[in-house]
Amino acid sequence: MSATTQIDHQFDRQHIWHPYTSMTQALPVYGVVSAEGCELILDDGRRLIDGTSSWWACVHGYGHPYILEAMQKQLSTLSHVMFGGITHPSAIAVSKKLLAMTSDNLTKVFLADSGSIAVEVAMKMALQYWQGRGAPSKQRILTVKHGYHGDTFAAMSVCDPEGGMHTMFGEAVTQQLFAPAPKTPFGETLIADDLEAMEALLNAHHQTIAAVIIEPIMQGAGAMHFYSADYLKGLRALCDRYKVLLILDEIATGFGRTGKLFAYQHAGIEADILCLGKALTGGYISLAATLCSDEVALGISDSPSGVFMHGPTFMGNPLACAAASASLDLINQHQWPEQVAAIEQQMKQELATASAIEGVKAVRCLGAVGVIEMTRSVNTAALQQAFVDRGVWVRPFSSYIYIMPPYTISAQQLSRLTQAMLEVAAIAGAEAKASRGDEASFISHG
Ligand code: PMP
Repeated sequence: MSATTQIDHQFDRQHIWHPYTSMTQALPVYGVVSAEGCELILDDGRRLIDGTSSWWACVHGYGHPYILEAMQKQLSTLSHVMFGGITHPSAIAVSKKLLAMTSDNLTKVFLADSGSIAVEVAMKMALQYWQGRGAPSKQRILTVKHGYHGDTFAAMSVCDPEGGMHTMFGEAVTQQLFAPAPKTPFGETLIADDLEAMEALLNAHHQTIAAVIIEPIMQGAGAMHFYSADYLKGLRALCDRYKVLLILDEIATGFGRTGKLFAYQHAGIEADILCLGKALTGGYISLAATLCSDEVALGISDSPSGVFMHGPTFMGNPLACAAASASLDLINQHQWPEQVAAIEQQMKQELATASAIEGVKAVRCLGAVGVIEMTRSVNTAALQQAFVDRGVWVRPFSSYIYIMPPYTISAQQLSRLTQAMLEVAAIAGAEAKASRGDEASFISHG
Protein backbone atom coordinates (compact mmCIF):
# COMPACT_ATOMS: atom_id res chain seq x y z
CA MET A 1 0.00 0.00 0.00
CA SER A 2 1.34 3.39 -1.03
CA ALA A 3 2.07 5.59 1.94
CA THR A 4 0.22 8.56 0.49
CA THR A 5 -3.05 7.49 -1.12
CA GLN A 6 -4.97 10.66 -2.00
CA ILE A 7 -8.18 11.36 -0.14
CA ASP A 8 -10.28 14.38 -1.17
CA HIS A 9 -10.81 15.76 2.33
CA GLN A 10 -12.27 18.99 1.02
CA PHE A 11 -15.05 17.12 -0.80
CA ASP A 12 -15.65 14.98 2.28
CA ARG A 13 -15.96 18.04 4.49
CA GLN A 14 -18.40 19.76 2.15
CA HIS A 15 -20.65 16.91 1.10
CA ILE A 16 -20.49 13.79 3.26
CA TRP A 17 -22.27 13.29 6.59
CA HIS A 18 -20.34 11.52 9.30
CA PRO A 19 -22.06 10.15 12.44
CA TYR A 20 -23.49 12.88 14.67
CA THR A 21 -21.95 15.80 12.78
CA SER A 22 -22.94 19.17 11.40
CA MET A 23 -22.40 20.04 7.72
CA THR A 24 -21.51 23.60 8.69
CA GLN A 25 -19.15 23.04 11.59
CA ALA A 26 -16.94 20.23 10.42
CA LEU A 27 -15.10 18.17 13.02
CA PRO A 28 -11.77 16.53 12.17
CA VAL A 29 -12.07 13.44 10.00
CA TYR A 30 -9.06 11.18 9.45
CA GLY A 31 -8.54 9.43 6.12
CA VAL A 32 -8.05 5.67 6.46
CA VAL A 33 -6.80 3.92 3.33
CA SER A 34 -6.31 0.43 4.67
CA ALA A 35 -6.18 -1.64 7.83
CA GLU A 36 -4.30 -4.75 8.83
CA GLY A 37 -4.26 -6.72 12.04
CA CYS A 38 -5.06 -4.22 14.79
CA GLU A 39 -3.84 -1.15 12.91
CA LEU A 40 -5.48 1.50 10.76
CA ILE A 41 -3.29 3.09 8.08
CA LEU A 42 -3.92 6.79 7.42
CA ASP A 43 -3.60 8.56 4.07
CA ASP A 44 -0.42 10.25 5.29
CA GLY A 45 1.12 6.85 6.02
CA ARG A 46 0.77 6.94 9.81
CA ARG A 47 -0.37 3.75 11.53
CA LEU A 48 -2.81 3.85 14.47
CA ILE A 49 -3.43 1.00 16.90
CA ASP A 50 -7.20 0.53 16.96
CA GLY A 51 -8.69 0.76 20.46
CA THR A 52 -12.29 0.70 19.21
CA SER A 53 -12.65 -2.45 17.08
CA SER A 54 -14.48 0.00 14.80
CA TRP A 55 -17.29 0.43 17.36
CA TRP A 56 -17.17 -3.06 18.92
CA ALA A 57 -17.28 -4.94 15.62
CA CYS A 58 -13.78 -5.94 14.40
CA VAL A 59 -13.02 -8.46 17.12
CA HIS A 60 -10.61 -10.54 15.00
CA GLY A 61 -8.74 -7.50 13.66
CA TYR A 62 -8.66 -6.35 10.05
CA GLY A 63 -7.81 -8.40 6.96
CA HIS A 64 -8.25 -11.80 8.61
CA PRO A 65 -7.54 -14.31 5.81
CA TYR A 66 -10.23 -16.78 6.87
CA ILE A 67 -13.03 -14.22 6.70
CA LEU A 68 -11.66 -12.66 3.51
CA GLU A 69 -11.53 -16.02 1.80
CA ALA A 70 -15.10 -16.85 2.83
CA MET A 71 -16.31 -13.50 1.52
CA GLN A 72 -14.37 -13.77 -1.72
CA LYS A 73 -15.79 -17.23 -2.34
CA GLN A 74 -19.31 -15.99 -1.63
CA LEU A 75 -18.83 -12.93 -3.83
CA SER A 76 -17.91 -15.07 -6.79
CA THR A 77 -20.92 -17.38 -6.39
CA LEU A 78 -23.80 -15.25 -5.05
CA SER A 79 -23.24 -11.72 -3.77
CA HIS A 80 -26.90 -10.86 -3.25
CA VAL A 81 -30.31 -12.33 -3.78
CA MET A 82 -33.68 -11.32 -2.35
CA PHE A 83 -34.77 -13.32 0.70
CA GLY A 84 -38.48 -13.29 -0.09
CA GLY A 85 -39.28 -16.81 -1.27
CA ILE A 86 -35.58 -17.67 -1.59
CA THR A 87 -32.96 -19.10 0.77
CA HIS A 88 -29.25 -19.83 0.35
CA PRO A 89 -26.50 -21.89 2.03
CA SER A 90 -24.83 -19.01 3.93
CA ALA A 91 -28.10 -17.91 5.60
CA ILE A 92 -28.61 -21.47 6.76
CA ALA A 93 -25.01 -21.88 7.90
CA VAL A 94 -24.97 -18.70 9.99
CA SER A 95 -28.41 -19.35 11.48
CA LYS A 96 -27.45 -22.91 12.50
CA LYS A 97 -24.33 -21.58 14.21
CA LEU A 98 -26.24 -18.82 16.00
CA LEU A 99 -28.83 -21.24 17.34
CA ALA A 100 -26.11 -23.64 18.51
CA MET A 101 -24.26 -20.85 20.34
CA THR A 102 -27.22 -19.18 22.07
CA SER A 103 -29.56 -20.53 24.76
CA ASP A 104 -31.68 -23.58 23.87
CA ASN A 105 -35.00 -21.75 24.10
CA LEU A 106 -34.10 -19.60 21.08
CA THR A 107 -35.11 -21.39 17.91
CA LYS A 108 -35.89 -18.76 15.25
CA VAL A 109 -33.60 -16.28 13.51
CA PHE A 110 -34.48 -13.02 11.73
CA LEU A 111 -31.48 -11.80 9.72
CA ALA A 112 -31.67 -8.03 9.95
CA ASP A 113 -29.29 -5.59 8.31
CA SER A 114 -28.13 -3.41 11.21
CA GLY A 115 -28.27 -3.30 14.99
CA SER A 116 -30.98 -0.64 15.08
CA ILE A 117 -33.14 -2.74 12.77
CA ALA A 118 -32.57 -5.82 14.94
CA VAL A 119 -34.00 -3.76 17.82
CA GLU A 120 -36.96 -2.55 15.70
CA VAL A 121 -37.63 -6.17 14.76
CA ALA A 122 -37.49 -7.27 18.41
CA MET A 123 -39.96 -4.59 19.48
CA LYS A 124 -42.33 -5.39 16.62
CA MET A 125 -42.10 -9.10 17.46
CA ALA A 126 -43.09 -8.37 21.06
CA LEU A 127 -46.14 -6.30 20.05
CA GLN A 128 -47.31 -8.82 17.47
CA TYR A 129 -46.81 -11.66 19.94
CA TRP A 130 -49.24 -10.13 22.41
CA GLN A 131 -51.76 -9.48 19.64
CA GLY A 132 -51.61 -13.18 18.90
CA ARG A 133 -52.05 -13.99 22.58
CA GLY A 134 -55.21 -11.89 22.87
CA ALA A 135 -53.59 -8.97 24.71
CA PRO A 136 -53.44 -6.21 22.08
CA SER A 137 -53.23 -3.52 24.77
CA LYS A 138 -49.68 -4.67 25.54
CA GLN A 139 -47.96 -2.15 23.27
CA ARG A 140 -45.51 -0.27 25.44
CA ILE A 141 -41.89 -1.10 26.11
CA LEU A 142 -40.33 -0.73 29.55
CA THR A 143 -36.63 -0.05 29.78
CA VAL A 144 -34.02 1.67 31.95
CA LYS A 145 -32.47 5.11 31.82
CA HIS A 146 -29.00 5.56 30.26
CA GLY A 147 -29.70 2.83 27.71
CA TYR A 148 -28.71 2.94 24.06
CA HIS A 149 -30.40 0.79 21.42
CA GLY A 150 -29.91 2.55 18.10
CA ASP A 151 -30.93 5.56 16.04
CA THR A 152 -34.17 4.56 14.26
CA PHE A 153 -37.45 5.82 15.73
CA ALA A 154 -38.48 2.79 17.77
CA ALA A 155 -34.88 2.21 18.91
CA MET A 156 -34.60 5.88 19.90
CA SER A 157 -37.76 5.58 21.97
CA VAL A 158 -35.92 3.23 24.35
CA CYS A 159 -32.67 5.22 24.44
CA ASP A 160 -31.95 7.37 27.47
CA PRO A 161 -34.86 9.81 27.75
CA GLU A 162 -32.51 12.65 28.64
CA GLY A 163 -30.15 12.01 25.73
CA GLY A 164 -30.35 13.94 22.45
CA MET A 165 -32.62 11.38 20.80
CA HIS A 166 -35.70 12.33 22.79
CA THR A 167 -35.13 16.02 23.26
CA MET A 168 -34.52 16.54 19.55
CA PHE A 169 -37.56 14.73 18.15
CA GLY A 170 -40.11 15.35 20.89
CA GLU A 171 -43.53 13.84 20.39
CA ALA A 172 -42.52 12.05 17.20
CA VAL A 173 -40.78 9.54 19.46
CA THR A 174 -43.10 7.00 21.10
CA GLN A 175 -43.34 7.55 24.84
CA GLN A 176 -42.07 4.46 26.62
CA LEU A 177 -41.64 3.65 30.31
CA PHE A 178 -38.29 4.12 32.06
CA ALA A 179 -37.02 2.68 35.32
CA PRO A 180 -33.82 4.05 36.86
CA ALA A 181 -30.60 2.60 35.46
CA PRO A 182 -29.24 -0.43 37.35
CA LYS A 183 -26.89 0.91 40.02
CA THR A 184 -25.37 -2.23 41.61
CA PRO A 185 -21.89 -2.59 40.08
CA PHE A 186 -20.85 -5.79 38.33
CA GLY A 187 -19.58 -8.45 40.71
CA GLU A 188 -21.56 -7.12 43.67
CA THR A 189 -24.70 -8.45 45.28
CA LEU A 190 -27.82 -6.51 44.52
CA ILE A 191 -28.36 -3.22 46.31
CA ALA A 192 -31.66 -3.80 48.12
CA ASP A 193 -33.81 -1.30 46.21
CA ASP A 194 -32.16 -1.61 42.79
CA LEU A 195 -35.14 -3.33 41.17
CA GLU A 196 -37.84 -1.62 43.22
CA ALA A 197 -38.84 1.05 40.69
CA MET A 198 -38.77 -1.52 37.88
CA GLU A 199 -41.12 -3.76 39.85
CA ALA A 200 -43.41 -0.85 40.69
CA LEU A 201 -43.70 0.06 36.99
CA LEU A 202 -44.39 -3.56 36.04
CA ASN A 203 -46.94 -3.87 38.80
CA ALA A 204 -48.77 -0.71 37.73
CA HIS A 205 -48.58 -1.09 33.96
CA HIS A 206 -48.04 -4.76 33.06
CA GLN A 207 -51.34 -4.88 31.18
CA THR A 208 -49.97 -2.36 28.69
CA ILE A 209 -46.33 -3.52 28.61
CA ALA A 210 -45.26 -5.90 25.84
CA ALA A 211 -41.60 -6.24 26.79
CA VAL A 212 -38.67 -5.01 28.79
CA ILE A 213 -35.58 -4.23 26.72
CA ILE A 214 -32.14 -3.91 28.28
CA GLU A 215 -28.45 -4.19 27.42
CA PRO A 216 -27.31 -7.10 29.62
CA ILE A 217 -24.47 -6.43 32.13
CA MET A 218 -23.03 -3.45 30.25
CA GLN A 219 -24.93 -0.25 29.56
CA GLY A 220 -22.87 0.91 26.58
CA ALA A 221 -23.09 4.24 24.76
CA GLY A 222 -25.45 5.72 27.36
CA ALA A 223 -23.37 4.95 30.47
CA MET A 224 -20.30 2.75 29.92
CA HIS A 225 -21.28 1.01 33.14
CA PHE A 226 -21.14 -2.67 34.13
CA TYR A 227 -23.95 -3.77 36.44
CA SER A 228 -24.70 -6.73 38.65
CA ALA A 229 -25.71 -10.12 37.26
CA ASP A 230 -28.18 -10.30 40.18
CA TYR A 231 -30.04 -7.37 38.66
CA LEU A 232 -30.53 -9.30 35.41
CA LYS A 233 -31.58 -12.41 37.29
CA GLY A 234 -34.11 -10.40 39.26
CA LEU A 235 -35.36 -8.71 36.11
CA ARG A 236 -35.91 -12.06 34.39
CA ALA A 237 -37.99 -13.22 37.38
CA LEU A 238 -40.05 -10.01 37.33
CA CYS A 239 -40.75 -10.38 33.60
CA ASP A 240 -42.00 -13.91 34.22
CA ARG A 241 -44.12 -12.84 37.18
CA TYR A 242 -45.79 -9.97 35.29
CA LYS A 243 -46.06 -11.77 31.93
CA VAL A 244 -43.85 -9.43 29.98
CA LEU A 245 -41.28 -10.52 27.38
CA LEU A 246 -37.58 -9.89 27.99
CA ILE A 247 -35.60 -8.52 25.04
CA LEU A 248 -31.85 -8.57 25.55
CA ASP A 249 -29.83 -6.24 23.34
CA GLU A 250 -26.45 -7.96 23.01
CA ILE A 251 -25.45 -5.93 19.96
CA ALA A 252 -22.38 -4.53 21.72
CA THR A 253 -21.83 -7.22 24.36
CA GLY A 254 -22.28 -10.36 22.24
CA PHE A 255 -19.53 -12.73 21.08
CA GLY A 256 -17.22 -12.58 24.06
CA ARG A 257 -16.80 -8.87 24.73
CA THR A 258 -17.63 -9.05 28.47
CA GLY A 259 -15.70 -12.28 29.07
CA LYS A 260 -18.67 -14.61 28.42
CA LEU A 261 -19.82 -15.58 24.94
CA PHE A 262 -23.01 -13.62 25.70
CA ALA A 263 -23.37 -11.25 28.63
CA TYR A 264 -26.63 -12.88 29.77
CA GLN A 265 -24.54 -15.93 30.69
CA HIS A 266 -23.08 -13.97 33.63
CA ALA A 267 -26.59 -14.19 35.10
CA GLY A 268 -27.51 -17.67 33.83
CA ILE A 269 -30.75 -16.40 32.29
CA GLU A 270 -32.44 -16.67 28.89
CA ALA A 271 -33.97 -13.97 26.71
CA ASP A 272 -37.32 -14.33 24.96
CA ILE A 273 -35.88 -12.21 22.16
CA LEU A 274 -32.17 -11.60 21.58
CA CYS A 275 -30.62 -8.87 19.40
CA LEU A 276 -27.15 -9.40 17.92
CA GLY A 277 -25.04 -7.30 15.55
CA LYS A 278 -21.66 -5.56 15.35
CA ALA A 279 -19.17 -8.44 15.96
CA LEU A 280 -21.54 -10.91 14.29
CA THR A 281 -19.61 -10.54 11.03
CA GLY A 282 -16.33 -9.78 12.78
CA GLY A 283 -17.01 -6.24 11.58
CA TYR A 284 -16.43 -7.05 7.91
CA ILE A 285 -19.88 -6.05 6.66
CA SER A 286 -23.22 -5.11 8.16
CA LEU A 287 -25.44 -7.88 9.49
CA ALA A 288 -27.55 -8.22 12.60
CA ALA A 289 -29.91 -10.86 13.89
CA THR A 290 -32.96 -11.06 16.12
CA LEU A 291 -33.52 -14.48 17.66
CA CYS A 292 -36.71 -15.56 19.38
CA SER A 293 -38.29 -18.53 21.09
CA ASP A 294 -40.89 -20.93 19.65
CA GLU A 295 -43.47 -19.35 21.91
CA VAL A 296 -42.84 -15.86 20.48
CA ALA A 297 -42.97 -17.21 16.92
CA LEU A 298 -46.22 -19.08 17.61
CA GLY A 299 -47.82 -15.97 19.12
CA ILE A 300 -46.87 -13.97 16.04
CA SER A 301 -48.47 -16.61 13.81
CA ASP A 302 -51.68 -16.23 15.83
CA SER A 303 -51.68 -12.43 15.43
CA PRO A 304 -54.27 -10.97 13.03
CA SER A 305 -51.81 -10.67 10.12
CA GLY A 306 -50.57 -14.21 10.71
CA VAL A 307 -47.14 -13.16 9.49
CA PHE A 308 -44.32 -11.14 10.96
CA MET A 309 -44.51 -7.68 9.40
CA HIS A 310 -40.91 -6.98 8.43
CA GLY A 311 -38.74 -7.84 5.42
CA PRO A 312 -35.95 -5.51 4.32
CA THR A 313 -34.42 -5.62 0.83
CA PHE A 314 -31.03 -6.77 2.07
CA MET A 315 -32.36 -9.26 4.60
CA GLY A 316 -30.07 -12.29 4.79
CA ASN A 317 -27.58 -10.82 2.32
CA PRO A 318 -25.37 -13.77 1.27
CA LEU A 319 -22.07 -11.87 1.47
CA ALA A 320 -22.87 -10.70 5.01
CA CYS A 321 -24.01 -14.19 6.00
CA ALA A 322 -20.77 -15.71 4.64
CA ALA A 323 -18.70 -13.22 6.63
CA ALA A 324 -20.73 -13.93 9.77
CA SER A 325 -20.50 -17.66 9.30
CA ALA A 326 -16.70 -17.41 9.02
CA SER A 327 -16.47 -15.05 11.99
CA LEU A 328 -18.52 -17.46 14.11
CA ASP A 329 -16.13 -20.28 13.10
CA LEU A 330 -13.28 -18.20 14.52
CA ILE A 331 -15.28 -17.51 17.71
CA ASN A 332 -16.01 -21.24 17.96
CA GLN A 333 -12.27 -22.00 17.85
CA HIS A 334 -12.31 -20.64 21.40
CA GLN A 335 -9.19 -18.53 21.43
CA TRP A 336 -11.27 -15.54 22.53
CA PRO A 337 -11.78 -16.54 26.21
CA GLU A 338 -8.04 -16.53 26.85
CA GLN A 339 -7.49 -13.38 24.77
CA VAL A 340 -10.30 -11.45 26.47
CA ALA A 341 -9.22 -12.58 29.96
CA ALA A 342 -5.64 -11.45 29.24
CA ILE A 343 -6.87 -8.07 27.94
CA GLU A 344 -8.99 -7.58 31.07
CA GLN A 345 -6.13 -8.44 33.40
CA GLN A 346 -3.66 -6.19 31.60
CA MET A 347 -6.09 -3.26 31.43
CA LYS A 348 -6.86 -3.59 35.14
CA GLN A 349 -3.14 -3.46 35.95
CA GLU A 350 -2.20 -0.68 33.55
CA LEU A 351 -5.20 1.57 34.19
CA ALA A 352 -5.07 1.19 37.98
CA THR A 353 -3.18 4.46 38.41
CA ALA A 354 -5.84 6.40 36.47
CA SER A 355 -7.97 6.91 39.56
CA ALA A 356 -5.24 9.18 40.96
CA ILE A 357 -5.42 11.52 37.95
CA GLU A 358 -7.15 14.83 38.57
CA GLY A 359 -10.64 14.89 37.01
CA VAL A 360 -11.02 11.10 36.89
CA LYS A 361 -14.22 9.89 38.52
CA ALA A 362 -13.91 6.12 38.08
CA VAL A 363 -12.00 3.38 36.28
CA ARG A 364 -13.81 0.22 35.17
CA CYS A 365 -12.69 -2.85 33.23
CA LEU A 366 -14.71 -5.89 32.26
CA GLY A 367 -13.70 -8.39 29.59
CA ALA A 368 -12.20 -6.48 26.69
CA VAL A 369 -13.71 -3.12 27.71
CA GLY A 370 -11.72 -0.51 29.66
CA VAL A 371 -13.28 2.77 30.77
CA ILE A 372 -11.93 5.90 32.39
CA GLU A 373 -14.88 8.05 33.45
CA MET A 374 -14.10 11.73 33.90
CA THR A 375 -16.06 14.02 36.20
CA ARG A 376 -16.99 16.22 33.22
CA SER A 377 -17.79 15.81 29.54
CA VAL A 378 -14.68 15.78 27.40
CA ASN A 379 -13.92 17.48 24.09
CA THR A 380 -14.12 14.51 21.70
CA ALA A 381 -12.32 16.19 18.79
CA ALA A 382 -9.41 17.51 20.86
CA LEU A 383 -8.86 14.25 22.72
CA GLN A 384 -9.19 12.20 19.55
CA GLN A 385 -6.37 14.33 18.09
CA ALA A 386 -4.29 13.73 21.23
CA PHE A 387 -4.77 9.99 20.75
CA VAL A 388 -3.82 10.17 17.05
CA ASP A 389 -0.69 12.10 18.03
CA ARG A 390 0.18 9.11 20.23
CA GLY A 391 -0.32 6.61 17.39
CA VAL A 392 -3.58 5.11 18.63
CA TRP A 393 -7.25 5.35 17.66
CA VAL A 394 -9.61 6.00 20.58
CA ARG A 395 -12.80 8.02 20.35
CA PRO A 396 -13.92 9.43 23.71
CA PHE A 397 -17.45 10.73 24.13
CA SER A 398 -19.47 12.38 26.90
CA SER A 399 -17.34 11.88 30.01
CA TYR A 400 -15.88 8.54 28.88
CA ILE A 401 -12.41 7.70 27.61
CA TYR A 402 -12.76 4.03 26.77
CA ILE A 403 -11.37 1.20 24.70
CA MET A 404 -12.73 -2.06 23.36
CA PRO A 405 -9.84 -3.38 21.25
CA PRO A 406 -9.84 -6.37 18.89
CA TYR A 407 -9.36 -9.61 20.83
CA THR A 408 -6.23 -10.24 18.75
CA ILE A 409 -4.38 -7.18 20.06
CA SER A 410 -0.85 -7.88 21.33
CA ALA A 411 0.20 -7.04 24.90
CA GLN A 412 2.57 -4.43 23.53
CA GLN A 413 -0.15 -2.75 21.44
CA LEU A 414 -2.51 -2.78 24.41
CA SER A 415 0.14 -1.09 26.56
CA ARG A 416 0.40 1.68 23.96
CA LEU A 417 -3.37 2.14 24.26
CA THR A 418 -3.53 2.20 28.06
CA GLN A 419 -0.51 4.52 28.28
CA ALA A 420 -2.20 6.91 25.85
CA MET A 421 -5.43 6.72 27.88
CA LEU A 422 -3.58 7.75 31.05
CA GLU A 423 -1.87 10.66 29.27
CA VAL A 424 -5.05 11.86 27.58
CA ALA A 425 -7.08 11.55 30.79
CA ALA A 426 -4.50 13.81 32.44
CA ILE A 427 -4.88 16.33 29.58
CA ALA A 428 -8.70 16.19 29.87
CA GLY A 429 -8.52 16.61 33.65
CA ALA A 430 -6.22 19.62 33.37
CA GLU A 431 -8.39 21.21 30.66
CA ALA A 432 -11.52 20.67 32.72
CA LYS A 433 -9.85 22.36 35.67
CA ALA A 434 -8.82 25.33 33.53
CA SER A 435 -12.11 25.77 31.67
CA ARG A 436 -14.67 24.14 33.97
CA GLY A 437 -15.15 21.56 31.16
CA ASP A 438 -17.66 21.14 28.37
CA GLU A 439 -21.17 20.71 29.58
CA ALA A 440 -23.41 17.78 28.74
CA SER A 441 -22.98 16.14 25.38
CA PHE A 442 -25.38 13.96 23.46
CA ILE A 443 -25.00 10.24 23.27
CA SER A 444 -22.47 9.86 20.53
CA HIS A 445 -22.92 6.26 19.47
CA GLY A 446 -20.26 3.74 20.18
N1 PMP B 1 -27.81 -1.56 20.49
C1 PMP B 1 -26.65 -1.37 21.10
C2 PMP B 1 -26.46 -1.89 22.49
C3 PMP B 1 -25.61 -0.70 20.45
O1 PMP B 1 -24.43 -0.50 21.07
C4 PMP B 1 -25.81 -0.26 19.12
C5 PMP B 1 -24.72 0.47 18.33
N2 PMP B 1 -23.87 1.20 19.04
C6 PMP B 1 -27.07 -0.48 18.52
C7 PMP B 1 -28.04 -1.15 19.24
C8 PMP B 1 -27.37 0.00 17.11
O2 PMP B 1 -26.65 -0.72 16.19
P1 PMP B 1 -26.36 -0.11 14.73
O3 PMP B 1 -25.47 1.08 14.93
O4 PMP B 1 -25.72 -1.23 13.97
O5 PMP B 1 -27.68 0.28 14.13
